[in-house]
Amino acid sequence: MEMSQRPIYLDCHATTSVDPRVMEVMLPFFTEFFGNPASISHQYGWEAEAAVQQSRELLATAINASPEEIVFTSGATEANNLAIKGVAEAYCSRGKHIITVETEHNAVLDPCRYLQSLGFDITFLSVKPDGLVDLLDLENALRPDTILVSVMTANNEIGVLQPIAEIGALCHQRGILFHTDAAQAIGKVPLDVEAMHVDLMSLTAHKIYGPKGIGALYVRRRNPRVQLAPQLHGGGHERGMRSGTLYTPQIVGLATAVQLGIDEMETETARITQLRDRLWQSLSQIGGVHLNGHLTQRLASNLNLSIEGVDGQALLVGLQPVVAVSSGSACTSAKSAPSHVLQAIGRSTELAYASIRFGIGRFNTEAEVELAAKHAIATIEALRQAITLPA
Ligand SMILES: *Cc1c(COP(=O)(O)O)cnc(C)c1O
Repeated sequence: MEMSQRPIYLDCHATTSVDPRVMEVMLPFFTEFFGNPASISHQYGWEAEAAVQQSRELLATAINASPEEIVFTSGATEANNLAIKGVAEAYCSRGKHIITVETEHNAVLDPCRYLQSLGFDITFLSVKPDGLVDLLDLENALRPDTILVSVMTANNEIGVLQPIAEIGALCHQRGILFHTDAAQAIGKVPLDVEAMHVDLMSLTAHKIYGPKGIGALYVRRRNPRVQLAPQLHGGGHERGMRSGTLYTPQIVGLATAVQLGIDEMETETARITQLRDRLWQSLSQIGGVHLNGHLTQRLASNLNLSIEGVDGQALLVGLQPVVAVSSGSACTSAKSAPSHVLQAIGRSTELAYASIRFGIGRFNTEAEVELAAKHAIATIEALRQAITLPA
Protein backbone atom coordinates (compact mmCIF):
# COMPACT_ATOMS: atom_id res chain seq x y z
CA MET A 1 0.00 0.00 0.00
CA GLU A 2 1.16 3.52 -0.75
CA MET A 3 1.84 5.33 2.49
CA SER A 4 0.64 8.60 1.00
CA GLN A 5 -2.86 7.16 1.22
CA ARG A 6 -4.90 7.83 4.32
CA PRO A 7 -5.29 4.96 6.81
CA ILE A 8 -8.07 2.43 6.27
CA TYR A 9 -11.04 3.66 8.28
CA LEU A 10 -12.27 0.90 10.60
CA ASP A 11 -13.72 3.05 13.37
CA CYS A 12 -17.38 3.17 12.37
CA HIS A 13 -18.59 3.00 16.01
CA ALA A 14 -17.04 6.44 16.55
CA THR A 15 -18.64 7.97 13.48
CA THR A 16 -19.20 7.30 9.79
CA SER A 17 -18.94 9.33 6.61
CA VAL A 18 -22.15 10.76 5.20
CA ASP A 19 -23.44 8.50 2.44
CA PRO A 20 -23.46 10.52 -0.83
CA ARG A 21 -27.11 9.52 -1.28
CA VAL A 22 -27.91 11.13 2.09
CA MET A 23 -25.90 14.23 1.20
CA GLU A 24 -27.80 14.62 -2.07
CA VAL A 25 -31.17 14.61 -0.32
CA MET A 26 -29.93 17.17 2.24
CA LEU A 27 -28.40 19.75 -0.11
CA PRO A 28 -31.54 21.57 -1.38
CA PHE A 29 -32.59 22.22 2.21
CA PHE A 30 -29.55 24.44 2.85
CA THR A 31 -30.27 26.76 -0.06
CA GLU A 32 -33.56 26.52 -1.91
CA PHE A 33 -35.84 25.08 0.79
CA PHE A 34 -34.31 27.01 3.68
CA GLY A 35 -37.55 28.07 5.37
CA ASN A 36 -38.23 27.78 9.07
CA PRO A 37 -40.56 24.79 9.57
CA ALA A 38 -42.32 26.84 12.25
CA SER A 39 -43.22 29.65 9.81
CA ILE A 40 -46.88 28.94 9.20
CA SER A 41 -47.71 32.01 7.11
CA HIS A 42 -45.89 31.31 3.83
CA GLN A 43 -44.71 28.73 1.35
CA TYR A 44 -41.08 28.65 2.58
CA GLY A 45 -42.23 27.50 5.98
CA TRP A 46 -44.73 24.99 4.54
CA GLU A 47 -42.05 23.40 2.34
CA ALA A 48 -39.68 22.93 5.26
CA GLU A 49 -42.48 21.71 7.50
CA ALA A 50 -43.54 19.16 4.86
CA ALA A 51 -39.99 17.79 4.70
CA VAL A 52 -39.77 17.60 8.51
CA GLN A 53 -43.15 15.88 8.69
CA GLN A 54 -42.16 13.35 6.04
CA SER A 55 -38.92 12.63 7.93
CA ARG A 56 -40.85 12.25 11.18
CA GLU A 57 -43.16 9.70 9.53
CA LEU A 58 -40.24 7.80 8.07
CA LEU A 59 -38.43 7.63 11.38
CA ALA A 60 -41.58 6.63 13.26
CA THR A 61 -42.31 3.83 10.80
CA ALA A 62 -38.71 2.61 11.15
CA ILE A 63 -39.26 1.82 14.85
CA ASN A 64 -43.03 1.08 14.71
CA ALA A 65 -44.03 4.34 16.41
CA SER A 66 -46.25 7.24 15.35
CA PRO A 67 -44.91 10.56 14.03
CA GLU A 68 -46.07 12.56 17.09
CA GLU A 69 -43.84 10.36 19.26
CA ILE A 70 -40.61 11.59 17.61
CA VAL A 71 -38.75 14.53 19.21
CA PHE A 72 -35.78 15.79 17.20
CA THR A 73 -32.60 16.51 19.18
CA SER A 74 -28.97 17.37 18.43
CA GLY A 75 -27.97 13.72 18.77
CA ALA A 76 -28.07 10.77 21.11
CA THR A 77 -26.28 12.61 23.94
CA GLU A 78 -29.08 15.14 24.11
CA ALA A 79 -31.76 12.46 23.64
CA ASN A 80 -30.32 10.48 26.57
CA ASN A 81 -30.17 13.59 28.75
CA LEU A 82 -33.74 14.53 27.87
CA ALA A 83 -35.02 11.00 28.54
CA ILE A 84 -33.25 10.45 31.84
CA LYS A 85 -33.39 13.92 33.38
CA GLY A 86 -36.81 14.58 31.84
CA VAL A 87 -38.31 11.45 33.42
CA ALA A 88 -36.51 11.99 36.74
CA GLU A 89 -37.93 15.49 37.03
CA ALA A 90 -41.45 14.54 35.94
CA TYR A 91 -41.78 11.40 38.08
CA CYS A 92 -39.73 12.24 41.20
CA SER A 93 -42.87 12.43 43.34
CA ARG A 94 -43.50 8.74 42.51
CA GLY A 95 -39.98 7.55 43.28
CA LYS A 96 -36.32 8.44 42.99
CA HIS A 97 -34.79 5.11 41.99
CA ILE A 98 -33.29 4.61 38.51
CA ILE A 99 -31.55 1.51 37.18
CA THR A 100 -28.88 1.51 34.49
CA VAL A 101 -25.86 -0.61 33.59
CA GLU A 102 -22.11 -0.16 34.15
CA THR A 103 -21.37 -0.60 30.42
CA GLU A 104 -23.61 2.23 29.20
CA HIS A 105 -22.27 5.16 27.19
CA ASN A 106 -21.20 8.17 29.26
CA ALA A 107 -24.15 10.05 27.80
CA VAL A 108 -26.30 7.78 30.00
CA LEU A 109 -23.93 7.29 32.94
CA ASP A 110 -23.17 10.99 33.44
CA PRO A 111 -26.81 12.19 33.56
CA CYS A 112 -27.42 9.37 36.08
CA ARG A 113 -24.44 10.47 38.18
CA TYR A 114 -25.71 14.03 37.99
CA LEU A 115 -29.12 12.90 39.28
CA GLN A 116 -27.33 11.01 42.05
CA SER A 117 -25.84 14.33 43.16
CA LEU A 118 -29.39 15.70 43.35
CA GLY A 119 -30.48 12.90 45.68
CA PHE A 120 -31.69 10.22 43.25
CA ASP A 121 -30.79 6.63 44.00
CA ILE A 122 -29.08 5.03 41.01
CA THR A 123 -28.34 1.32 40.62
CA PHE A 124 -25.49 0.62 38.18
CA LEU A 125 -25.98 -3.04 37.28
CA SER A 126 -22.93 -5.14 36.49
CA VAL A 127 -22.91 -7.39 33.42
CA LYS A 128 -21.95 -11.00 32.77
CA PRO A 129 -18.46 -11.70 31.36
CA ASP A 130 -20.02 -11.75 27.87
CA GLY A 131 -21.22 -8.17 28.36
CA LEU A 132 -24.92 -9.03 28.61
CA VAL A 133 -27.25 -7.96 31.40
CA ASP A 134 -28.38 -10.80 33.66
CA LEU A 135 -32.20 -10.63 33.58
CA LEU A 136 -32.46 -12.08 37.08
CA ASP A 137 -30.12 -9.37 38.43
CA LEU A 138 -32.26 -6.76 36.77
CA GLU A 139 -35.49 -8.24 38.12
CA ASN A 140 -34.02 -8.32 41.63
CA ALA A 141 -33.00 -4.67 41.38
CA LEU A 142 -36.52 -3.45 40.52
CA ARG A 143 -38.24 -1.72 43.45
CA PRO A 144 -41.59 -0.07 44.14
CA ASP A 145 -39.87 3.34 43.89
CA THR A 146 -38.09 2.54 40.58
CA ILE A 147 -39.23 5.07 37.99
CA LEU A 148 -36.90 4.31 35.09
CA VAL A 149 -34.68 1.58 33.67
CA SER A 150 -32.12 2.57 31.01
CA VAL A 151 -30.30 -0.16 29.07
CA MET A 152 -28.64 0.40 25.70
CA THR A 153 -29.64 -1.69 22.67
CA ALA A 154 -26.14 -2.15 21.20
CA ASN A 155 -22.90 -1.37 22.98
CA ASN A 156 -20.61 1.15 21.28
CA GLU A 157 -17.39 -0.56 22.40
CA ILE A 158 -18.00 -4.31 22.35
CA GLY A 159 -21.08 -4.35 20.10
CA VAL A 160 -23.17 -6.66 22.28
CA LEU A 161 -26.94 -6.58 21.81
CA GLN A 162 -28.83 -6.53 25.11
CA PRO A 163 -32.06 -8.53 25.57
CA ILE A 164 -34.18 -5.40 25.15
CA ALA A 165 -37.57 -7.05 24.62
CA GLU A 166 -37.18 -9.15 27.79
CA ILE A 167 -36.03 -6.16 29.85
CA GLY A 168 -38.90 -4.08 28.47
CA ALA A 169 -41.41 -6.76 29.41
CA LEU A 170 -40.09 -6.90 33.00
CA CYS A 171 -40.44 -3.11 33.29
CA HIS A 172 -43.90 -2.94 31.76
CA GLN A 173 -45.26 -5.69 34.02
CA ARG A 174 -44.48 -3.33 36.91
CA GLY A 175 -45.40 -0.03 35.30
CA ILE A 176 -41.78 1.15 35.22
CA LEU A 177 -40.62 3.27 32.27
CA PHE A 178 -37.97 1.79 30.00
CA HIS A 179 -35.43 3.81 28.03
CA THR A 180 -32.93 2.42 25.53
CA ASP A 181 -30.00 4.18 23.88
CA ALA A 182 -30.21 2.77 20.36
CA ALA A 183 -27.52 5.02 18.84
CA GLN A 184 -25.50 2.04 17.60
CA ALA A 185 -28.50 -0.11 16.72
CA ILE A 186 -30.77 1.98 14.48
CA GLY A 187 -30.38 1.03 10.83
CA LYS A 188 -28.25 -1.99 11.76
CA VAL A 189 -30.68 -4.26 13.62
CA PRO A 190 -34.51 -4.32 13.50
CA LEU A 191 -36.15 -2.11 16.14
CA ASP A 192 -39.79 -2.17 17.23
CA VAL A 193 -40.83 -0.11 20.24
CA GLU A 194 -44.04 -2.13 20.66
CA ALA A 195 -42.51 -5.60 20.50
CA MET A 196 -39.59 -4.42 22.66
CA HIS A 197 -41.79 -2.61 25.25
CA VAL A 198 -39.71 0.55 24.92
CA ASP A 199 -41.04 3.89 26.23
CA LEU A 200 -38.10 6.09 25.26
CA MET A 201 -35.49 5.42 22.56
CA SER A 202 -32.46 7.58 21.71
CA LEU A 203 -31.28 7.77 18.11
CA THR A 204 -28.50 9.52 16.20
CA ALA A 205 -27.60 9.89 12.53
CA HIS A 206 -23.81 9.98 12.42
CA LYS A 207 -23.22 6.32 13.26
CA ILE A 208 -25.24 5.26 10.23
CA TYR A 209 -23.90 7.40 7.39
CA GLY A 210 -25.98 10.44 8.29
CA PRO A 211 -24.76 13.89 9.39
CA LYS A 212 -23.43 14.76 12.84
CA GLY A 213 -25.47 17.01 15.11
CA ILE A 214 -28.88 15.39 14.66
CA GLY A 215 -30.76 12.69 16.49
CA ALA A 216 -34.14 11.98 17.99
CA LEU A 217 -35.88 10.74 21.08
CA TYR A 218 -38.89 8.47 20.72
CA VAL A 219 -41.35 9.30 23.52
CA ARG A 220 -44.31 6.93 23.98
CA ARG A 221 -47.70 8.63 23.87
CA ARG A 222 -50.03 5.69 24.64
CA ASN A 223 -49.91 2.84 27.19
CA PRO A 224 -48.42 4.65 29.00
CA ARG A 225 -48.26 8.31 27.98
CA VAL A 226 -44.75 9.35 29.05
CA GLN A 227 -44.40 12.72 30.78
CA LEU A 228 -41.11 14.54 30.21
CA ALA A 229 -39.84 17.70 31.83
CA PRO A 230 -38.19 19.69 29.00
CA GLN A 231 -34.48 20.37 29.38
CA LEU A 232 -34.36 23.16 26.78
CA HIS A 233 -36.95 25.89 27.18
CA GLY A 234 -37.86 28.33 24.43
CA GLY A 235 -40.31 28.51 21.58
CA GLY A 236 -42.19 25.36 22.54
CA HIS A 237 -41.13 23.30 19.53
CA GLU A 238 -41.56 19.54 19.53
CA ARG A 239 -44.72 19.72 21.67
CA GLY A 240 -42.82 21.72 24.26
CA MET A 241 -40.33 18.92 24.93
CA ARG A 242 -37.41 20.45 23.03
CA SER A 243 -37.34 24.04 21.91
CA GLY A 244 -35.15 25.32 19.12
CA THR A 245 -35.61 25.88 15.38
CA LEU A 246 -35.68 22.54 13.61
CA TYR A 247 -32.58 21.85 11.53
CA THR A 248 -34.30 20.76 8.32
CA PRO A 249 -31.26 19.54 6.29
CA GLN A 250 -30.03 17.41 9.20
CA ILE A 251 -33.51 16.04 9.89
CA VAL A 252 -33.96 15.02 6.27
CA GLY A 253 -30.46 13.48 6.43
CA LEU A 254 -31.29 11.50 9.56
CA ALA A 255 -34.45 10.06 8.04
CA THR A 256 -32.73 9.19 4.75
CA ALA A 257 -29.83 7.52 6.56
CA VAL A 258 -32.20 5.42 8.66
CA GLN A 259 -34.25 4.44 5.60
CA LEU A 260 -31.13 3.37 3.67
CA GLY A 261 -29.92 1.40 6.68
CA ILE A 262 -33.20 -0.47 6.87
CA ASP A 263 -33.50 -1.03 3.11
CA GLU A 264 -30.01 -2.51 2.94
CA MET A 265 -29.91 -4.15 6.37
CA GLU A 266 -30.14 -7.74 5.23
CA THR A 267 -27.48 -7.64 2.52
CA GLU A 268 -25.16 -5.34 4.46
CA THR A 269 -25.39 -7.42 7.64
CA ALA A 270 -24.44 -10.52 5.67
CA ARG A 271 -21.56 -8.78 3.87
CA ILE A 272 -20.14 -7.09 6.97
CA THR A 273 -20.50 -10.23 9.09
CA GLN A 274 -18.38 -12.08 6.55
CA LEU A 275 -15.68 -9.37 6.66
CA ARG A 276 -15.75 -9.29 10.48
CA ASP A 277 -15.53 -13.08 10.77
CA ARG A 278 -12.60 -13.15 8.37
CA LEU A 279 -10.81 -10.50 10.47
CA TRP A 280 -11.46 -12.52 13.64
CA GLN A 281 -10.25 -15.73 11.97
CA SER A 282 -6.94 -14.14 10.91
CA LEU A 283 -6.30 -12.41 14.22
CA SER A 284 -7.30 -15.29 16.46
CA GLN A 285 -4.68 -17.49 14.78
CA ILE A 286 -1.80 -15.62 16.38
CA GLY A 287 -2.77 -16.66 19.90
CA GLY A 288 -3.20 -14.63 23.06
CA VAL A 289 -6.05 -12.69 21.47
CA HIS A 290 -9.29 -12.40 23.47
CA LEU A 291 -12.63 -11.48 21.98
CA ASN A 292 -14.48 -8.94 24.12
CA GLY A 293 -18.24 -9.40 24.29
CA HIS A 294 -20.63 -12.17 23.34
CA LEU A 295 -19.54 -14.07 20.22
CA THR A 296 -22.85 -13.97 18.32
CA GLN A 297 -25.17 -11.63 20.26
CA ARG A 298 -23.45 -8.57 18.76
CA LEU A 299 -23.44 -6.08 15.91
CA ALA A 300 -22.09 -7.49 12.65
CA SER A 301 -19.73 -4.54 12.36
CA ASN A 302 -17.99 -4.96 15.72
CA LEU A 303 -14.84 -6.83 16.67
CA ASN A 304 -13.24 -5.83 19.98
CA LEU A 305 -10.06 -7.65 20.95
CA SER A 306 -7.70 -7.62 23.90
CA ILE A 307 -4.15 -8.60 23.03
CA GLU A 308 -1.78 -10.31 25.44
CA GLY A 309 1.85 -9.29 25.66
CA VAL A 310 1.65 -5.86 24.05
CA ASP A 311 1.51 -2.34 25.38
CA GLY A 312 -1.82 -0.71 24.52
CA GLN A 313 -0.39 2.67 23.59
CA ALA A 314 2.36 1.13 21.45
CA LEU A 315 -0.27 -0.98 19.70
CA LEU A 316 -2.34 2.04 18.69
CA VAL A 317 0.76 3.93 17.59
CA GLY A 318 1.84 0.95 15.46
CA LEU A 319 -1.58 0.54 13.85
CA GLN A 320 -2.32 4.20 13.25
CA PRO A 321 -0.41 4.83 9.97
CA VAL A 322 -2.30 2.01 8.22
CA VAL A 323 -5.51 1.38 10.15
CA ALA A 324 -7.75 3.94 11.87
CA VAL A 325 -9.18 2.13 14.90
CA SER A 326 -9.54 3.03 18.54
CA SER A 327 -9.06 1.24 21.81
CA GLY A 328 -12.48 2.09 23.15
CA SER A 329 -15.13 4.68 22.63
CA ALA A 330 -14.03 7.92 20.99
CA CYS A 331 -15.26 9.76 24.04
CA THR A 332 -13.10 7.85 26.52
CA SER A 333 -10.03 7.10 24.41
CA ALA A 334 -8.93 10.73 24.77
CA LYS A 335 -8.57 10.10 28.49
CA SER A 336 -5.88 7.78 29.74
CA ALA A 337 -8.18 5.62 31.88
CA PRO A 338 -8.84 2.12 30.55
CA SER A 339 -12.29 1.43 29.13
CA HIS A 340 -15.01 1.16 31.78
CA VAL A 341 -16.77 -1.36 29.52
CA LEU A 342 -13.80 -3.71 29.32
CA GLN A 343 -13.29 -3.43 33.06
CA ALA A 344 -16.97 -4.21 33.62
CA ILE A 345 -16.64 -7.49 31.68
CA GLY A 346 -13.73 -8.44 33.91
CA ARG A 347 -10.69 -7.62 31.80
CA SER A 348 -7.52 -6.77 33.74
CA THR A 349 -6.29 -3.19 33.47
CA GLU A 350 -3.45 -4.38 31.24
CA LEU A 351 -5.76 -6.24 28.82
CA ALA A 352 -8.26 -3.38 28.88
CA TYR A 353 -5.48 -1.03 27.75
CA ALA A 354 -4.22 -3.44 25.08
CA SER A 355 -7.45 -3.56 23.14
CA ILE A 356 -8.53 -2.77 19.60
CA ARG A 357 -12.05 -1.91 18.56
CA PHE A 358 -12.67 -2.60 14.90
CA GLY A 359 -15.82 -1.11 13.41
CA ILE A 360 -16.44 -2.28 9.86
CA GLY A 361 -18.75 -0.15 7.76
CA ARG A 362 -20.64 0.24 4.52
CA PHE A 363 -17.67 1.54 2.56
CA ASN A 364 -15.07 -1.01 3.66
CA THR A 365 -13.93 -3.58 1.11
CA GLU A 366 -12.62 -7.11 1.47
CA ALA A 367 -9.16 -5.93 0.38
CA GLU A 368 -9.10 -3.26 3.09
CA VAL A 369 -10.05 -5.71 5.82
CA GLU A 370 -7.41 -8.17 4.66
CA LEU A 371 -4.75 -5.49 4.65
CA ALA A 372 -5.84 -4.30 8.09
CA ALA A 373 -5.60 -7.87 9.45
CA LYS A 374 -2.13 -8.32 7.97
CA HIS A 375 -0.88 -5.05 9.40
CA ALA A 376 -2.41 -5.74 12.83
CA ILE A 377 -0.77 -9.16 12.99
CA ALA A 378 2.61 -7.75 11.95
CA THR A 379 2.33 -4.97 14.54
CA ILE A 380 1.36 -7.33 17.35
CA GLU A 381 4.14 -9.77 16.51
CA ALA A 382 6.73 -7.01 16.34
CA LEU A 383 5.65 -5.62 19.71
CA ARG A 384 5.67 -9.06 21.31
CA GLN A 385 9.17 -9.78 20.05
CA ALA A 386 10.38 -6.46 21.37
CA ILE A 387 8.81 -7.19 24.74
CA THR A 388 10.12 -10.74 25.09
CA LEU A 389 13.72 -9.81 24.19
CA PRO A 390 15.96 -9.99 27.23
CA ALA A 391 16.77 -6.55 28.57
C1 LIG B 1 -22.28 7.86 19.72
C2 LIG B 1 -23.13 7.43 20.85
C3 LIG B 1 -23.79 8.36 21.65
C4 LIG B 1 -23.64 9.86 21.45
O1 LIG B 1 -24.33 10.23 20.30
P1 LIG B 1 -24.14 11.72 19.72
O2 LIG B 1 -25.19 11.77 18.65
O3 LIG B 1 -22.75 11.79 19.20
O4 LIG B 1 -24.42 12.67 20.82
C5 LIG B 1 -24.59 7.89 22.66
N1 LIG B 1 -24.73 6.58 22.88
C6 LIG B 1 -24.10 5.65 22.15
C7 LIG B 1 -24.31 4.22 22.42
C8 LIG B 1 -23.28 6.04 21.10
O5 LIG B 1 -22.65 5.13 20.39
